[in-house]
Amino acid sequence: MWARKRLDIDGLDLASGLGAALTCRQSERQAMQEQLERGWLGSSPGVALACLSVRSGFDLLLQALQLPAGSEVAISALTIPDMVRIVRDRGLTPVPVDLHPATLAPEPASLERAITASTRLIVVAHLFGTRAPIEPVLEKARSCGALVVEDCAQAYAPGFTGHPEADVSCFSFGSIKRATALGGALLRVRYPALAELMRQIQAGYPLQSRLAYTRRLLKYAGLKALENRPAFAALVATCKLLGADCDRLLNQAVRGFAGGELFPRLRQQPCTPLLALLAHRLRRYTPARMAAQVECGETLVRLLRQRCPWVTVPGSAAPYRSHWVVPVLAENRQALIAALAAAGFDATRGSSMCVPDAPDGPYLPATATGQVFERLVYLPCYPAMSPAALVRMTAVLAAQQGNMECFGVLGASAGWDGKSPTLATDRH
Ligand SMILES: *Cc1c(COP(=O)(O)O)cnc(C)c1O
Repeated sequence: MWARKRLDIDGLDLASGLGAALTCRQSERQAMQEQLERGWLGSSPGVALACLSVRSGFDLLLQALQLPAGSEVAISALTIPDMVRIVRDRGLTPVPVDLHPATLAPEPASLERAITASTRLIVVAHLFGTRAPIEPVLEKARSCGALVVEDCAQAYAPGFTGHPEADVSCFSFGSIKRATALGGALLRVRYPALAELMRQIQAGYPLQSRLAYTRRLLKYAGLKALENRPAFAALVATCKLLGADCDRLLNQAVRGFAGGELFPRLRQQPCTPLLALLAHRLRRYTPARMAAQVECGETLVRLLRQRCPWVTVPGSAAPYRSHWVVPVLAENRQALIAALAAAGFDATRGSSMCVPDAPDGPYLPATATGQVFERLVYLPCYPAMSPAALVRMTAVLAAQQGNMECFGVLGASAGWDGKSPTLATDRH
């Protein structure tokens, strides 16, 4: 069985994290954070800030901005529920911006409709490893005085610190993210005074528990072991035997924060071992490592286009694709997932994202994004899979034509010209 995902961290990285958890001293924290931030930012404009998570950083931003209650935040209509919760918690109104199903970029007409005199912030998510061209958003934001936040949680790439003109760009190193440090985030903030304010608020937070982080490192060392195919097959078989829902179990296991209240969990400073592991990951994460994933995703997209051109791959028409994940759209997800499982591929519908409702008033619901969201199936796709495995997986999808056919329409509307895409290399 090919597991749904490979955690993007190796045993040696986990060992390095455990080493840091055992040895690094509290007194090194300040220097470590500065070095991490400086090293990542390089010559990019603005100021870097390391946080516990993107959600923590976004929450800091909203606290620092002190926007008047009732201000509106236009936000990419496919995001994680907590981002929407954080907006609501500050008394602000999230307004979804519909996305193009094939490029996942904000639809200009929907953006236009979502912006009002009360819009103070526009949050654009770069989904599934794509980079949405944000120039139209920047232009719109400048004309109405809103700030632009880039949610790059799914779009880390070595050397990429976000669009130079974005006001804030946020990168996540949560457990399922690229170059993960099992937590942590880096934000690039354009305005030093704003960054300083955020830093001061963060400095008042309690420190993340080192013990909890060490346990997390150990737990993931265990999950890593499941990536071994026989071990994973055994887990699936055991769940079946016990009547347990393996899918839910795995989704829960990799959720960023365990149960309990959201805000106390977000409002912590990253512990020193987390900063150390994050710095280690960034130092060691090579463009070649990422290129292998990009290549794997592009190969799969190419195969799908050749053998089942009716399949819609959200994001595959984006100008830049790094394939953090590769989803397809299916009418009957359960049938597709079952067919893939029977052939040895652990696809999943995922459960971590949402499409926020439009608020009352003149706002339009994010219809296209809603249609995508209800049909998403994530395929396993990572360099450990041989090209032959990708071909076999494509054959399963080809046999599901009736299940996927109707959404060819969505793909076609992207104006994809049928030519093979330019390989998404690490252009910035
Ligand atoms: C993962 C994710 C986040 C949150 O990242 P954390 O660092 O876990 O807070 C935010 N937005 C998107 C689109 C994500 O995928």
